[in-house]
Amino acid sequence: MTLFPNGTILGYPRIGPDRELKRALEANWRGRIDDAEFARRTSELRLADLQRLVELGLSPDDASLPLETAHYDHVLDATLTFGAVPPRLRDAVTHGLAWEWLLARGDVDRAPLEMTKWFDTNYHYLVPELDAETTFSLADTRIVDRFIEARAAGFHTRPAVVGPATYLALAKAEGVRTTELADRLVPLYRELAERLAAAGATWLQLDEPALVADLEGFTPVELQGIARSGARAVREGGLKVLLAAGYGESSGRVEALASDVDAIAFDLVRGGLPAVTDTPLVAGVVHGRNVWRTDLDKALETLRASGSDVSVGTTTPLLHVPHTLEPESDLGDELRSWLAFADEKVAEVVTLADALRTGTTSPAFDEARAALGSRAAAEGVRDGSVRERVASLQADARTRLPYDQRAQLQRQKTPLPALPTTTIGSFPQTGDIRLARAAHAKGESSDEQYREALQAEVRRVIDLQSDLELDVLVHGEPERNDMVQYFAENFNGFSVTKRGWVQSYGSRATRPSILWGDVSRPKPFTVEWISYAQSLTEKPVKGMLTGPVTILAWSFVRDDQPLADTADQVALALADEIADLEAAGTSIIQVDEPALRELLPLRASDRAAYLDWSVGSFRLATGQAAPETQIHTHLCYSEFNTIIDAIDGLDADVTSIEAARSKMEVVEAIAAHGYSRGIGPGVYDIHSPRVPSTDEVSELIGIAAANIPEQLLWINPDCGLKTRGYEETSESLRSLVDATRLARG
Ligand code: GLN
Ligand code: ZN
Repeated sequence: MTLFPNGTILGYPRIGPDRELKRALEANWRGRIDDAEFARRTSELRLADLQRLVELGLSPDDASLPLETAHYDHVLDATLTFGAVPPRLRDAVTHGLAWEWLLARGDVDRAPLEMTKWFDTNYHYLVPELDAETTFSLADTRIVDRFIEARAAGFHTRPAVVGPATYLALAKAEGVRTTELADRLVPLYRELAERLAAAGATWLQLDEPALVADLEGFTPVELQGIARSGARAVREGGLKVLLAAGYGESSGRVEALASDVDAIAFDLVRGGLPAVTDTPLVAGVVHGRNVWRTDLDKALETLRASGSDVSVGTTTPLLHVPHTLEPESDLGDELRSWLAFADEKVAEVVTLADALRTGTTSPAFDEARAALGSRAAAEGVRDGSVRERVASLQADARTRLPYDQRAQLQRQKTPLPALPTTTIGSFPQTGDIRLARAAHAKGESSDEQYREALQAEVRRVIDLQSDLELDVLVHGEPERNDMVQYFAENFNGFSVTKRGWVQSYGSRATRPSILWGDVSRPKPFTVEWISYAQSLTEKPVKGMLTGPVTILAWSFVRDDQPLADTADQVALALADEIADLEAAGTSIIQVDEPALRELLPLRASDRAAYLDWSVGSFRLATGQAAPETQIHTHLCYSEFNTIIDAIDGLDADVTSIEAARSKMEVVEAIAAHGYSRGIGPGVYDIHSPRVPSTDEVSELIGIAAANIPEQLLWINPDCGLKTRGYEETSESLRSLVDATRLARG
């Protein structure tokens, strides 16, 4: 008998089809709704989501409904549940929403938990902070409470919690290896299981994607050992364990745990079948991270070949895709027919489970087949001229003149002072800009009116930078709704959704574009803005582009050809824009690659090939720039220590890199590498409204200057300023400029 006869999913989007969660969070933070009203609204959303899953065909009775419903972040939920109080906050509040928001958002005196990307996704989790004194306790019963709430409404769910191996591998700790705390943490899983069992639960899902990754500082065997103790503890507590090891190749990593768990869920799209015999499997044949309609014939065949005790599942939680295609009529019937968002994926799971159970296929199979056929043949999916251009690339297309020669030409063309100051691109996206954009989108203002509003903003940004006496200016990016979507809107081969929101962190959601066809750029689209900004100042204004890897990382990308091929198409579209910027007189052009690290494969053995094509696509985008054009790039959101070689390989003339939050940790790795091109480690953290003093900035410049030759050093913030307000931005930049002056003196 199959475990979940109607299939299951590993998790469902939490943000809400209308971003109900976002609105409840922000209303509570602003004091517009109290905690009771917040609880009421989030409960309503959770139950509506469960109801929806049942309507789509999942069973309400057999624990196939996942209960993974964090307010802000599922790793934070584990931190709260297990009472992992960060050492620096031991004297602060430790319960209720006030505590949750303190950890998630900080306050005037206290920084929030650090945020970083969840495996190779664009979802951010809050990093647990531990130390040798950390103790754990069942401090928060939210998981149990939500189970009871769902049960009372008629849903017998399967609660999910981050497993101990993943939790500890993702945590940071001072003075101790996080995994040394396993013996203290694991018993809490038993306690949680006991509480859930007493409430009537039968299963607990342990999310352990760390098992499938190669994580610095941990061996697979060590992580397996911790995951195993966690699973045993849950079983001792009276529950069955679903080990969720999605997100990649699990075979070779989960077999050792087979006898300690009751079922294993794994990714059968990116990976193979684990070699287990007696353990029931939940085969992830429906992709949890992309938006393409599943090839049902192929999936069914894979399922049938996977053994007798197999349930149908998703490769990951559906957290990474939007709720539903329903409101997306603007995509057009054809493109829409190729897609599946969360709800459509649930329906696919149910369809496959039906076919597996009954041995007959429903009309949904015919539909899927027809959609796949239409996709393969559709206009724009293959564009002859794009393909010809890629095929005829010359061997030197990715190579510029050697740096020393370029640098000299650049100095002549664009003389700059020692320790040049600049910013990363965006300036505050004010409410006025957003209103102007919304009015324009609704047709309430003309193109001309919209352009004038944006130009006024560019003037303001140039004036501010001129007053501050920054050296290399930016136009501020007011015309961009988002650094990827703006490019998607101006390239062929992409479509954008109306309401395809995906949670990025907390209340933040992004609307990834869909890259479905061959990519090209019909006409210049950034030149107008850079030229306008340049017309207002004698100082150089940087051209500002988003790089090919980041465009892919933050979009849903076609799955019918290698990413490397798609990246090269995007690179050529960007090369066209660079050529037009140069023709318009731009001498400095930045190509942002903040997501370079994000797509780094989870398995070490896949990394060289990835870095080869990703770095190669950046070089293709920038390779035809004139030697006197100074190419900048910008990296952030990650730890870059381990990929300095690849950063070097980008061959950018100047690289700005996030560094302030980690107190310049990265400069040592850069120095050790013998990095020999321009580098701007960020000197202030833009993630909080705090204004750094001149002394603080000076201290960071001092650390940078002690490691990096002065003639290579640039002074800039950690990242763009779009989320900040004007007042704090100008004060912070004032500190940056003052500290630079002192350093120059
Ligand atoms: N140029 C972009 C900005 O300043 C870069 C953003 C990023 O790195 N995420 O906003
Ligand atoms: Zn950045």
